Amino acid sequence: MEQSRFVIPASEVESREALPSLVSSSEPLVRTPISNFNVAAVGLGASGRAFVGVNIEFPGLPFHHTIHAEQFLLTNMSLHAETTLHSFAVSAAPCGHCRQFLQELRHAPDVQILITSDPNPSFTPLSHLLSHHFGPHDLLPQSEPLLLEPRHNNLTLPNPNSLTLAALEAANASHAPYSACPSGVALLDSKGALYKGSYIESAAYNPSLGPLQAALVAFISAGGGDYEDIAAAVLVEKEGALIKQDHTARLLLHSIAPLCRFEAFLAT
Ligand SMILES: [Zn+2]
Repeated sequence: MEQSRFVIPASEVESREALPSLVSSSEPLVRTPISNFNVAAVGLGASGRAFVGVNIEFPGLPFHHTIHAEQFLLTNMSLHAETTLHSFAVSAAPCGHCRQFLQELRHAPDVQILITSDPNPSFTPLSHLLSHHFGPHDLLPQSEPLLLEPRHNNLTLPNPNSLTLAALEAANASHAPYSACPSGVALLDSKGALYKGSYIESAAYNPSLGPLQAALVAFISAGGGDYEDIAAAVLVEKEGALIKQDHTARLLLHSIAPLCRFEAFLAT
């Protein structure tokens, strides 16, 4: 039942006009021990379902480990095979980092955004919030799959166990067209449940979201509580990759779940 707080069935979402009230009811889901500045974003997908994103902070680590609410939202949509974001409502104006991250969507300029803290909130296209944008098509051909679109990176590993196979599947779904270095993380909790997350790159590089962060979105959105419930983690990345996640993933995991076992595998 916890999952319904992060994924709201189409039967409960009449239209995008329902999104602002879902933003206010989602704000308690944030994890903001550093800023206490709570951001919730709720998006409407092509399926009619609504998806929640919240900001997640990690004390003791550099800021770049942070998960922004809009990044959480897009990762949550990807986890649930939602292929299009039409519109979303968010409790504060999207930061520049998130306006850039949203460019990974096809038709990003047309995504409609409502900021609930505005004096007169109304839906406005992303192109109004970030004009003259830099995005995927400055670097990639039009035919390249973008974020939320199906892709398979054709990585293989010999004889993976179930946790490693989940990490391999996540790596194969990873949106990493700029580095060609896809990666994925799978987590196992103390009850035996699996969670997987795919690395998501940004055309502007720095707003990219690591595979462990994406797997933590899966853990939290499925109702996960204390990070110390995470018993084991596996990272799969590409052999010979220029962009490597191993050290930074270990750093974050050690900080939030110091007893968690961690293994990394190189796929070909
Ligand atoms: Zn942001």
